[in-house]
Amino acid sequence: MKYNKKNYDYLIVGAGPYGSIFAYEAAKRGKRSLIIEKRPHIGGNMYTHKESGINVHDYGAHIFHTDNKEVWDYINQFTEFNGYINQVIANYKGELYNLPFNMNTFYQMWGVKTPEEASKKILEQREAAGISGVPKNLEEQAISLIGTDIYMKLIKGYTEKQWGRKSTDLPPFIIRRLPVRYTFDNNYFNHRYQGIPIDGYTVIFEKMLNSELIDITCGVDFLDDKEVYLTEFPKIIYTGMIDAFFDYKFGELEYRSVRFESKTVNSNNFQGNAVINYTDAETPFTRIMEWRHFDNNADDGKTIITKEFPQNWDKSKEAYYPVNDKKNSDLFKRYKVEANKIDNVIFGGRLGNYQYYDMDQVFGAALKAVDKEFKNNNK
Ligand code: UDP
Repeated sequence: MKYNKKNYDYLIVGAGPYGSIFAYEAAKRGKRSLIIEKRPHIGGNMYTHKESGINVHDYGAHIFHTDNKEVWDYINQFTEFNGYINQVIANYKGELYNLPFNMNTFYQMWGVKTPEEASKKILEQREAAGISGVPKNLEEQAISLIGTDIYMKLIKGYTEKQWGRKSTDLPPFIIRRLPVRYTFDNNYFNHRYQGIPIDGYTVIFEKMLNSELIDITCGVDFLDDKEVYLTEFPKIIYTGMIDAFFDYKFGELEYRSVRFESKTVNSNNFQGNAVINYTDAETPFTRIMEWRHFDNNADDGKTIITKEFPQNWDKSKEAYYPVNDKKNSDLFKRYKVEANKIDNVIFGGRLGNYQYYDMDQVFGAALKAVDKEFKNNNK
């Protein structure tokens, strides 16, 4: 027994939301887990730290939003939320627009003042572009939803630098993440519940994992000793990359990565908003976050800003976004067939399922896995 000295019931690979929820729920049922985490901290990409009184999100802005009441109640066991509503500004070559696409954006773009005028304008542009039927790619989807002007100024440049490929080579669903509204409502999300934990996200994970039945080892890569883990542990929850688990035997799935540049500025208000997107193609970053505006917390005279630069992914970088185009989705399906053949490993999370999940979807999926594993007994 190299690792399973304490007769753990579960080995959990990754201390992000999927793995942490599983460990917490297992512990509630008297089951013992060992979590191994490659990074030096828990929380996955939800990890936050405090600096100059400001909660900084180390892996980019994380705004919790959901329509799922079960998930909302679940996360509220571990934290209070601050009521933050995300309202993003787009800067296109110095012109400012409200996002997501709504009556404010339409007014700023065209001077139209009523929903009727706005939909007329959009319809005209869709027809002029010759778009009808089911959109085949992101470009067609965008133009059919909000017309050519908004596509050209607020979507094309941002999307192509974000994903490193043409909008015509991207799936339509990516742009449908953003609401289109014929009301003057700048809320970036349509969900009923939204906010940011008042003490940041990391404390949620500290609370979840604070149990005698849970041990955590950071700085350990499962793949270094995969075969040993597989023989020693009765069950494994794996939240790493699914293609890596299978040694890339069918080929590598593609991901998109991002890198961040942060700095502290001696000011109480650098940009007047939590997130400003730079939607032209030339600016190398996609957005600037100013963290103090997410929860109105900061030491006086200090603000921290972070620029987000998209970049190609390779094995030395964090895999942030799965690229769910046809080629990669087909490849994922082949891995999924393999995964389904292994009874004692559950694949979960954004990387284990190769899905562009939001946090609440990961929570929902983890709670489902827990239900299945424990058959709703012993709650
Ligand atoms: N998007 C865009 N312009 C923007 C913001 C978003 O074209 O100003 C597109 C872009 O393709 C992006 C997608 O909408 O990848 C989804 O945006 P979201 O803000 O949901 O991305 P995330 O915050 O997950 O990176």
